[in-house]
Amino acid sequence: MDVDKALARTLQLLAEGVQEFVGFDLAAVSLVTDGVLHTVAVVGDDDAIARLLDLRAPVELVERELAPAEVWGDLRFLPAERAGGHLAGHEWVPDIVALDGPDAWDPDDLLCGLLRDDDGQLRGLLSVDLPRNGRRPDVAQRETLQMYVRLAERALVTALERGDLEERVEREHAVAEYRRTIIDVLSHELRGTAAAIANTVEVLRRRTAPDDATRAALDAVDGGADRITSVVDDMAALAKLGRPGVALRVVPTDLGAVARDVIGFHAAAARLRDVSVSLEVRGSPVVAGDPEDLDRMVSNLLSNAVKYSDPGGRVRVSVRPAASSGVVLEVADTGIGIDAADRARVFEEFFRSRAGAVRRRAGAGLGLAIVERIVALHGGSVRVESAPGEGSTFTVELPADVPRSPGGNRNAGS
Ligand code: ADP
Repeated sequence: MDVDKALARTLQLLAEGVQEFVGFDLAAVSLVTDGVLHTVAVVGDDDAIARLLDLRAPVELVERELAPAEVWGDLRFLPAERAGGHLAGHEWVPDIVALDGPDAWDPDDLLCGLLRDDDGQLRGLLSVDLPRNGRRPDVAQRETLQMYVRLAERALVTALERGDLEERVEREHAVAEYRRTIIDVLSHELRGTAAAIANTVEVLRRRTAPDDATRAALDAVDGGADRITSVVDDMAALAKLGRPGVALRVVPTDLGAVARDVIGFHAAAARLRDVSVSLEVRGSPVVAGDPEDLDRMVSNLLSNAVKYSDPGGRVRVSVRPAASSGVVLEVADTGIGIDAADRARVFEEFFRSRAGAVRRRAGAGLGLAIVERIVALHGGSVRVESAPGEGSTFTVELPADVPRSPGGNRNAGS
């Protein structure tokens, strides 16, 4: 792991505490990176510090060497007489002469605390050497040392969790960016392809005098090209609107006028489906917002209302100033309706109900995700009420002005 500065500072303070309060002239903390232990905090004399900072010890050898050690809670004490020599070349041995007596500290004695993560994996060691009294530690010293080991372990685990979290967030950002790049490339390619298909259909229509079957086939190809273009447009819009810090063009926009334009645009499709569309505008429903995005928002709601209605259905669009400030837009239909389970998911990207009545109608499941994103960028809210078989009402509430940064950047009047 990369040792961040905060962790290194904490471990250094703990090593100083061990030196002062446990009674060892040398205390060091080493951490595991790629299976190798290396010192990250140490207190002692200059020679020891320099030597320890250079040392690298494979964890596997450390574990083998410590296997016959005495177990004192989290501490491991390996008396010189049990040393296996596995760490030869990977350890520092002080140049001292041992005192007399059975509890004298031997220069080859090894005492350390294990720093483990929540899964019990060894992540580091807190080691001590050179006891000031020249003796192996008594019970009181062991207890104090144990306390420092637990503190070091906590600091280490917290830093690991923080690192995991940062890594996860970075990965999510990278995936989101990758998705947007793919969508950009795909939409560019597919838009070009759809345009080429539409042009070819046009040329064929003009050059030949198509019979009914050929005309129907050309219409089908043309309709397919239109579908590709519309899905690609939705994908590109969603990718653009999802970009962090996306800039909104904010100008005073009359939502009543937007609704009127959108209804005009969809009039032919509504007539074809035998669905009537009415509009009621009250007061002066002006919001500060991006006219293109607001147009797209109303358009997606209206085209759904028409699409998910059966012949003879009625769609009612109403726009009015909100009670406090801002504007309320309602798009209500008498169509197929949405059950409770689907209602909870309709704003998800690519969600489409599994109901046959929905599957028979074309769609990619992006329209409402785009609506929700546009509403959020404008600092508003959107909700749906619906009863299967009776119809649905989508209600958007927008504040009079776009808040400073609800997830997008304001770019006034440009
Ligand atoms: P699409 O219409 O392309 O499938 P949308 O994101 O616009 O995608 O809508 C998601 C889903 O929500 C639809 O597939 C449909 O199940 C449901 N839905 C949306 N609007 C309506 C509506 N007015 N009436 C009934 N169902 C709707």
